[in-house]
Amino acid sequence: MHKKISIIGSGFSSLAASCYLAKAGNHVTIYEKNETIGGRARQLKKEGFTFDIGPTWYWMPDVFELFFADFGKQPSEYYQLIKLNPAYQVYFAKNDSITIEDTLQKICAAFEKEERGSSIKLQKFISKAQSNYNIAIKDLVYRPGVSPFELVTPATLKKINQFFSTISKDVRKEFSNPKLVSILEFPVLFLGAKASNTPSFYSFMNYADFGLGTFHPKNGMYSVILAMKSLAEELGVTIKTNQNIEKIITENKVAKGIIANGKTILSDIILSGADYHHTETLLDQQDRQYSETYWGKKIFAPSSLLFYVGFDKKIKNVEHHTLFFDVDFEAHAKSIYDTPEWPEDPLFYASFPSKTDENAAPDGKEAGIFLIPLAPGLTDIPELREEYFEKIMSRFEKITMQEVKKNIILKESFCVNDFIDQYNSYKGNAYGLANTLLQTAFLRPKLKSKKVKGLYFTGQLSVPGPGVPPSLISGKLVAQLIEKNTIQTR
Ligand SMILES: Cc1cc2nc3c(=O)[nH]c(=O)nc-3n(C[C@H](O)[C@H](O)[C@H](O)COP(=O)(O)OP(=O)(O)OC[C@H]3O[C@@H](n4cnc5c(N)ncnc54)[C@H](O)[C@@H]3O)c2cc1C
Repeated sequence: MHKKISIIGSGFSSLAASCYLAKAGNHVTIYEKNETIGGRARQLKKEGFTFDIGPTWYWMPDVFELFFADFGKQPSEYYQLIKLNPAYQVYFAKNDSITIEDTLQKICAAFEKEERGSSIKLQKFISKAQSNYNIAIKDLVYRPGVSPFELVTPATLKKINQFFSTISKDVRKEFSNPKLVSILEFPVLFLGAKASNTPSFYSFMNYADFGLGTFHPKNGMYSVILAMKSLAEELGVTIKTNQNIEKIITENKVAKGIIANGKTILSDIILSGADYHHTETLLDQQDRQYSETYWGKKIFAPSSLLFYVGFDKKIKNVEHHTLFFDVDFEAHAKSIYDTPEWPEDPLFYASFPSKTDENAAPDGKEAGIFLIPLAPGLTDIPELREEYFEKIMSRFEKITMQEVKKNIILKESFCVNDFIDQYNSYKGNAYGLANTLLQTAFLRPKLKSKKVKGLYFTGQLSVPGPGVPPSLISGKLVAQLIEKNTIQTR
């Protein structure tokens, strides 16, 4: 008998899971608290400008292809993908930047210009990263994190030494130019942790960066959310917005339903794609698996201060993705992970989607997204947001050699309090639970509740981890687990 499944939240992981569960013949309904779907990947449209509120880097196109292929589809049936060239630019000071283009050959040439002999080392580094990618992304991440033995394969045994060194050590052993070091340490930030706390094996992120490249879906990342919504609805999923789930009802350790806006909805299975910590607060104390102390000890990926800015002119000397690494990387990382505080001099990231996509801004204007990574849980007040906006804009003007402040015609911000308010995010984290060695696979919060039968979890705080591609995989893994358990009890 097919099940009535209620899914909490409409982020990437929930949408992915809904597709698999509906394809298996279940009656699936998504309940989203916000007015629009997409979770952290929602969209802001205002005064002719369009901004992705969250993710802007489309990496690992193979994972998206595999997702759609599971339904006999291709991404191109739903959205147009543009490979960015250059992929991104990194500023180190005024008149001092490195541009990362769209092939390894061109990137090698850029490296060689900075440090003699580095192109050969880069080729070797990326070849190892590719081999790790083939093991990790094509195999390991598609395992449900149930047992440590999932990670023990003939391929991983050969790589065991790579779990005892770090990306940071490996990179610094081969490259001495600090600019190249920071470029090679940048991709693991997507995993939510510092390179010095990330095992060498995770260099697969460097292959995603230099080997596979950076893409932009036409009309932004939100077009991927819309694609998944269409697919889910084609498969029979019902999506309901403005539905705040206030409680998960259990009876004798069995999930029975949810309460949405005061109304009880009985369900055979409940799957939550909302932040794991928040979902557990919807349960009575005795049904929760993890204590506040457990969450307090975990390494969370950063929160962020974001600005969505409309300029009344085109911005010069920047690319679609531009990173500002003109201040001390270590000091900023320390303020995120070691002694949580507002950073003295923050690194920041800027994205100008209207450089590639004419739909992102009105003619002759530019849409800019600015992001400063921050420790979760920091005090978030309007005055601090303004102070930091002023800080980064002044640096931006100096480094890119132009005035822009007087050209701002639209500005919105998003920070810790918004992550909490809009997504029920633990301490206002942006990217979930970091993927460190001790927070990998079976060591992460589980997809299936150990205490309540019929209750499951998915998303960036669970398996396999933060990022859009892992969220798609998380949805698939939990759907497989639900199907497996349901068949066993049929
Ligand atoms: C600023 C930012 C930049 C990022 N950049 C990138 C990037 O460039 N590339 C990349 O790959 N990844 C990026 N990420 C990470 C990526 O966006 C996330 O990993 C992914 O979107 C998480 O999806 P999810 O399904 O786990 O959770 P979410 O998207 O958070 O979805 C959870 C949903 O549950 C809903 N919800 C919560 N509580 C309730 C409730 N009680 N009742 C009903 N609904 C509820 C929320 O409203 C939300 O819609 C970024 C994230 C952020 C925030």
